[in-house]
Amino acid sequence: MTQRPYVVDQMISAKSIAARIEALCSAIQTEFSDTDKLIVVGLLRGSFVFIADLVRELDLPVEVDFLEASSYGDGMESSREVRILKDLRGGIEGRDVLVVEDIIDTGFTMKHVLGLLKARKPHKLRSIALLDKPSRREVDVKADWTGFEIPDEFVVGYGIDFAQRNRNLPFIGKVRFTDPD
Ligand code: 5GP
Ligand code: MG
Ligand code: MG
Repeated sequence: MTQRPYVVDQMISAKSIAARIEALCSAIQTEFSDTDKLIVVGLLRGSFVFIADLVRELDLPVEVDFLEASSYGDGMESSREVRILKDLRGGIEGRDVLVVEDIIDTGFTMKHVLGLLKARKPHKLRSIALLDKPSRREVDVKADWTGFEIPDEFVVGYGIDFAQRNRNLPFIGKVRFTDPD
């Protein structure tokens, strides 16, 4: 399949993301102030840049683990069916856990992952999403902390891809197709 030509228009600058992460981290630190060692669970692959910045801003002892859930494939539409492609390496029973997601869209992925992790009986389970598109929600789920609420646009950058491209952009931008149609 050949890719339709597109450009990426900046929506949220690297500087705004960094400032927002600072604010979020002070709230997270308060929430986990008496936690022995927090397990930060990144949802692959879209959250890898966010989690890297987040854990470096957190002044707490942390462990990092990853979970890969699939819903999108390479397209632009959610499949609404969530599969676990890679599970956590470690157990979370009795532990304090923070799930880190790039975007909550329809909500299927976050709802499924939180249900799965809750069944493993963590002591405390919280979640954070860098981006939230509330207008797209199909199931009732909300992260405990959200970086930015955005409109219904397809976004890339800062770890987030379009068909595996643009993950390395330092900012968040929206995809704008440039071919005449
Ligand atoms: P949900 O299950 O909430 O519909 O979808 C969540 C996942 O879909 C996100 O973790 C993300 O991987 C993907 N997704 C949702 N919106 C976008 C978007 O605008 N751009 C990209 N690249 N992925 C998105
Ligand atoms: Mg994702
Ligand atoms: Mg993707």
